[in-house]
Amino acid sequence: MSLQLVLATHNQHKVDEFRRMLERDHPHIGIVGYDGPEPVEDGTDFSQNALIKARAAAQHTGKIALADDSGLCVDILGGAPGIFSARWAGSAHDATANRDLLLDQLSDISDPHRTARFVCTIALVVPETVLAGGHEEIVEGIWPGSLATAPRGTNGFAYDPIFIPEGMEATSAELAPEEKNRLSHRARALSALGGVLATTLENLVN
Ligand code: IMP
Repeated sequence: MSLQLVLATHNQHKVDEFRRMLERDHPHIGIVGYDGPEPVEDGTDFSQNALIKARAAAQHTGKIALADDSGLCVDILGGAPGIFSARWAGSAHDATANRDLLLDQLSDISDPHRTARFVCTIALVVPETVLAGGHEEIVEGIWPGSLATAPRGTNGFAYDPIFIPEGMEATSAELAPEEKNRLSHRARALSALGGVLATTLENLVN
């Protein structure tokens, strides 16, 4: 018997990435996209926003749902931009404006104080229609590093050209996509999710 999981995103790139990583380790699991209503993401941290999205998709479809929320957290800024990463320079601005604003804000900050991390949180929601009482899990992936003083590299997106993973000199935009996909916050969260799926869902398919 196979099990369908709904991924609460309209972003096909994310659906493909989750499908590739999860179906490889869990052949009985299939990932499908979600085209239902999108809830307001008014949580105060990554976990709350991921749960809001996963709960909405589970309720709308009656299926087990997954949702992720991610962003860049800068230590000297108290964890900002954090959940505001996608609209740091305002919702009318793009990823380059977000990155340039962040670089400006850190212009007087010396290297030892430029530490940051990418964070990815994934919520898993099993609705009551699938399991009596329902079930929720949250997993997190953290990719530690620091911020460059100017953008470097053309791979990746958004903050990648200014993020230097810990122990490296290259920015994550200078890494080959396969290498970033192996090391990133999303890869780490997906790997943690694999463990959770193995322990919480195996009994549902038997
Ligand atoms: P989302 O959770 O995929 O919508 O990501 C939120 C925002 O966090 C993105 O719009 C980016 O600004 C930032 N972000 C998340 N992951 C990455 C990454 O891997 N590279 C660069 N920026 C990222």
